[in-house]
Amino acid sequence: MDCVFCKIAAGEIPTSAVYQDELAYAFGDISPKAPVHVLIIPREHIGSLAEAGADKRALLGHLMGVAGKIARQKGLAKGYRVVVNTGEEGGQSVEHLHLHLMGGRQMTWPPG
Ligand code: 5GP
Ligand code: ZN
Repeated sequence: MDCVFCKIAAGEIPTSAVYQDELAYAFGDISPKAPVHVLIIPREHIGSLAEAGADKRALLGHLMGVAGKIARQKGLAKGYRVVVNTGEEGGQSVEHLHLHLMGGRQMTWPPG
């Protein structure tokens, strides 16, 4: 499958891992929008949150837990944001489920 995030998780596109385990891979966003901007993906290809069925609940929980772990490692004690853009109106541009972990500056609400 021609999926850039599958290739990153498989090591076919060299990227320095922020975190990895048997289920998840995390790496810095190529175009960071905050001092800390990490993408957390499942190694398994899932197109989006909308495509994640009930059988993926444990995996989704794991990804959230990884986000919290990386936030602690990065020292984001003052807070951070975790975002899952989903589908066209959600602003998703890469069709492999990913969590954005962003921090290191004051976030605003609502997002654009
Ligand atoms: P989305 O817009 O789908 O929520 O987020 C996709 C994110 O992936 C964007 O923030 C974009 O900068 C990032 N991105 C796209 N291609 C690559 C890549 O090849 N390497 C890395 N590290 N990030 C990428
Ligand atoms: Zn993929």
